[in-house]
Amino acid sequence: MNGRGLWACWAVCFVVFLAQPPLTSQLPDVIKIGGLFDVGDVNQKLSFQSAFESVNAGLRRTSFQPIIREIPPGDSFHASKKVCSYVRAGVAAIFGPQSERASAHVQSICDALEIPHIETRWDYRARREHYSINLYPHPFSLSKAYFDLVREFEWTSFTILYEDNDGLVRLQELFKVPPKKYKITLLQLPDHRDYRDVLRKVLISSEYNLILDCKTENVERVLKQAQQVGLMTALHSFLITSLDLHLVDLQDFKYSGTNITAVRLVDPERGEARKFMYEWRMKVRPRVCTLFPTFKSQAPAFPQTEAMLMYDAVKLYVMAIQALDNSTYVQITPLKCELEGGWIHGNSLINYMKMVRQATNLGKIKFLKTRSSRRASPPPPPPRGQTATTVYESNCNPHKPKDSIPNALSNSPRHHLTRLLLPSRRQNDPYIMLRESSERLSGNDRFEGFCIDLLNEIAEILKFNFVLIPIKAYGSRNATTGEWNGMIKELLEDRGDMAVTDLTINFEREDAVDFTMPFMNLGISILYKKPQKMAPSLFSFLSPLSIEVWIYMITAYVGVSIVMYILARFSPYEWQNPHPCDPDPDTLENQFTILNCLWFAIGSLMQQGCDFLPQAVSTRMVAGMWWFFTLIMISSYTANLAAFLTVERMESPIESADDLAKQTKIKYGLKEGGTTSVFFRDSKIPTYKHMWDTMNKYKEMGENVFTGSNKEGATRVSKSNGLYAFFMESTTIEYVIERECDLTQVGGLLDSKSYGIALQPGSPYKGVLDVAILTLQSRGRFHTLKEKWFRQKRGGGKCKEEAGGSSMASELNLPNVGGVFVVLIGGMGLALVVALGEFVLYCWEISREDEKSLISVLSEELCFVFQCKGSTKPVRKKAESETAAVDNMYGSDVYNCSGRNPLT
Ligand code: GLU
Repeated sequence: MNGRGLWACWAVCFVVFLAQPPLTSQLPDVIKIGGLFDVGDVNQKLSFQSAFESVNAGLRRTSFQPIIREIPPGDSFHASKKVCSYVRAGVAAIFGPQSERASAHVQSICDALEIPHIETRWDYRARREHYSINLYPHPFSLSKAYFDLVREFEWTSFTILYEDNDGLVRLQELFKVPPKKYKITLLQLPDHRDYRDVLRKVLISSEYNLILDCKTENVERVLKQAQQVGLMTALHSFLITSLDLHLVDLQDFKYSGTNITAVRLVDPERGEARKFMYEWRMKVRPRVCTLFPTFKSQAPAFPQTEAMLMYDAVKLYVMAIQALDNSTYVQITPLKCELEGGWIHGNSLINYMKMVRQATNLGKIKFLKTRSSRRASPPPPPPRGQTATTVYESNCNPHKPKDSIPNALSNSPRHHLTRLLLPSRRQNDPYIMLRESSERLSGNDRFEGFCIDLLNEIAEILKFNFVLIPIKAYGSRNATTGEWNGMIKELLEDRGDMAVTDLTINFEREDAVDFTMPFMNLGISILYKKPQKMAPSLFSFLSPLSIEVWIYMITAYVGVSIVMYILARFSPYEWQNPHPCDPDPDTLENQFTILNCLWFAIGSLMQQGCDFLPQAVSTRMVAGMWWFFTLIMISSYTANLAAFLTVERMESPIESADDLAKQTKIKYGLKEGGTTSVFFRDSKIPTYKHMWDTMNKYKEMGENVFTGSNKEGATRVSKSNGLYAFFMESTTIEYVIERECDLTQVGGLLDSKSYGIALQPGSPYKGVLDVAILTLQSRGRFHTLKEKWFRQKRGGGKCKEEAGGSSMASELNLPNVGGVFVVLIGGMGLALVVALGEFVLYCWEISREDEKSLISVLSEELCFVFQCKGSTKPVRKKAESETAAVDNMYGSDVYNCSGRNPLT
């Protein structure tokens, strides 16, 4: 079978096996892959690692284990040794190295052992070993692309400035055209890096079209010297053959008017490349910067073409081995360099790799069959006049001096009017609002707000114009279709350049588009009705002590009185002579009857005292302890009473998200389609998960707790009478509670995030916008704008005034102390009732003893009482029985020394 027939056969087989239903993977659990890198080639190495990390993340059972080794550049001895150690370990492919000599050795060993060898390096040779694949475009293809460009530019005369013979190989197609058609001048750049003499020759020759072929790191130097000799004018055009021109800082030449054109293999805004760019920015580049701080220049903001090719090579290899796995049982066996025989699947795997035309970083890959070499074809040349290098971030430090801000925004003619997307303008206070005016406004003048001021300030710094385009939604991804809506979709579909509003940066969005540095920090919190002031209670004087303490105090009072009574009866010193005039009394009396004990204890508690005091040590100790107790209790009570009577207490049924989750009376909701809902939807924290389920349950039951906007949510909370709480971003809550005085923020922040300006993926504006945002931050402009739009404009500060009015010290009103009067009046009434009782009882006894009617005794006594004259009363002379009756009535402890009626 000839070569063509064999290819056709493979192609048929490939199509046939793709049509088969996928079989269960039979690949080994771990597949080892060798990676040989030149010492110091950090980018390639990390790109290789990152590609396998990304591949492994998508695999279930099998995982690829990259084994990385470093060799001195060009050291073929070490390279061979490492390859042999790889094959002993049983690798299924070897990637690298970059240097030509070492690579040649690796190729020949791999060829002998039938192990796929994958490279991503410049190689002009037309013939390759069968088991090697190189993803770097062959010079033949590149030179065709450059030739196409020259034709497109309609250059008939040009000068080629080249550094070494590789450059001439790269431009070989240009030399094949008939000399009559083109005037080509060749000038070699010297090694000593002073190119001015050569460049002056170009100037003298009046040649305006130049093709520059030199190492990427020398491009800037050549262009600078060209500028010095006067070759960088609007009349001059440069075609630069470096595929990494996006890594060169061209800002110094942006005002020269010179047309600089270059070709790049990867469009960073398309397909898989976007994902890689994201991974590069988020993972690989920071890793290079941390691991090798001295190699910062090796970690550019955009990856080198070779690093992107390495990423592609890994993906291509993985696709091929998976395809191979679908058709056969793949076994990986350790081999030995010294022994004959190779890996049985090596040949098939290489053939599968050559057939994969899957879209990767490079777009579609096609391996050419020129002789036995297989190369990736370059992309079609860009249209005439379009500069392919528009990205100027070149180091790890975003803080560039102000005067060197590269302004892709003001420079790019296409973006002279930058298209700025805004959310639906009705409900987005204070970020974007419709300007209030009696005149009919149009264009950008229709809007005002925090974000509009922010944009104006950025535009002032970067000198660009913009047109505002309102869009309905912020941007969320459909979980099933994966499609974006709102502003994010507009950015992705190139209908806008920036999206500006309270747009939260989250993982999902960051994955799809680019964001500038944050301009505001926030978190999710709860908007709820302000706690209501409690009406002062009549018995608020009881509030300083809790009900239990009151009960304990009463118990202590009764207990101490009983203890006093018992101890006094025990102690001989409490039994005293009832008639001090009689030195030899028949009886002794104890003044601590139970009633007297109660009286003594209450007298002390009220800080008053009593007309009799303990005499014995034991009873005095009881009294002392009780007085100490009352001292502390009364002081505490008095101190607390002042606070309770003057401070108005507020009561809120919820204090945090946990409180909300635990109850069912107060419903809660949030704005649909925003990052707040994404937070709850994706949260793994049980409380928030439960809350998300509850909110959806309410929705299913027909009571939609979700709202279309934050403003709608705030209105709902206001009207809900405390039965609805709303999750909102803290910044917006700040704005709302400045104006709606019945609303407040409850609890702290549930998360922490920021607002940023969204840009198209890989947008060249990111760098300059970051610098502008940092500049505004250092000038304190964000604070000023926040004060203006959050606290001053549009009704700001309203609630502060109200709060100020009521913050004066409030005097006590009758409702605060009314209870004390009630107790007093109650006490008086009770005393009156007791007095009446005593009086009636006394009269009843007299009537019985004197054998008079009760009415007459009552009227006699009442007459005396209501005479209201004098403070003496005649003693009723009566038999002993009468005195005894009086004694019964007042207790035996009341001793009247003069023998007078105790009532007088
Ligand atoms: N800032 C949110 C967003 O970017 C909108 C408001 C919210 O979800 O609470 O989607």
